Amino acid sequence: MEWKINKGSKGCITCNKEFCEEEEYYSALFDENNSFIRKDFCVSCWNGSKNGVLFSFWKTKIPKKDKPVQRFVNTDVFLDMFTRLEGNNETQQKNLRYVIALYLIRKKIFKLKSLKKQDGEEFIILYYPKEEREFNVFNPNLKEEEIESITSEMSQLLNYPYLEQEVLGNAD
Ligand SMILES: [Zn+2]
Repeated sequence: MEWKINKGSKGCITCNKEFCEEEEYYSALFDENNSFIRKDFCVSCWNGSKNGVLFSFWKTKIPKKDKPVQRFVNTDVFLDMFTRLEGNNETQQKNLRYVIALYLIRKKIFKLKSLKKQDGEEFIILYYPKEEREFNVFNPNLKEEEIESITSEMSQLLNYPYLEQEVLGNAD
């Protein structure tokens, strides 16, 4: 998967207005040609736009200068990404889906039920209590540093600096 991350973006992509302290705005993920792209919108541009390829979005807020970034990202965003990636056979996308699964297990959205080997491949079986369904997730046997690098890209994409400690941290 290609990632296109607007790292420098501190303002609205439509009207270029810079966000000020404590301003609420919307971040949206778009799925464009197999890339996830994040775009930020001020509230009035967001309300006036029709987003055909919109994939997932959340409302967020510029933190106060002396306050830490708040935990605004919604696990629904991860569930959306996870569901969207189902059945995708590209290596990077399978890796990404596995890392998202790790995160959702850690957040107790999914329960790790069992492992399954099939045709020389390993899958983890997850249970999603809210919808009473199971998911098979291909286990790409990533090295620790591969998980770190995917997590770090995802954290930038979602503008969510806590992600790394949540996926990689040992505290439960
Ligand atoms: Zn705007």
